[in-house]
Amino acid sequence: MSKSEREAMFGKTESGYLWCLHCERAYKESEYRTEVNRNGDMMEMCHYEDCDGDAVIDAWDWADLKEGHPDYPDNPVEGKVYPQYG
Ligand SMILES: [Zn+2]
Repeated sequence: MSKSEREAMFGKTESGYLWCLHCERAYKESEYRTEVNRNGDMMEMCHYEDCDGDAVIDAWDWADLKEGHPDYPDNPVEGKVYPQYG
């Protein structure tokens, strides 16, 4: 199996989940969407279709978000918003 673009750049996440900076929701590391952009390049995008964040630079390891939020669960709930602040 080939590595995702994100994995090639940053390696696997510690938590197995990514958290999206745009929509502040989390998804399983392997469940990003793929989209072809106007240059014909395959893009790895946020799992949620109503979000235009990508799964490479707009996504954090869930473990990194949790460092500032020890109350957040180890396994984030799909579709739930986990704010970075507040
Ligand atoms: Zn998103």
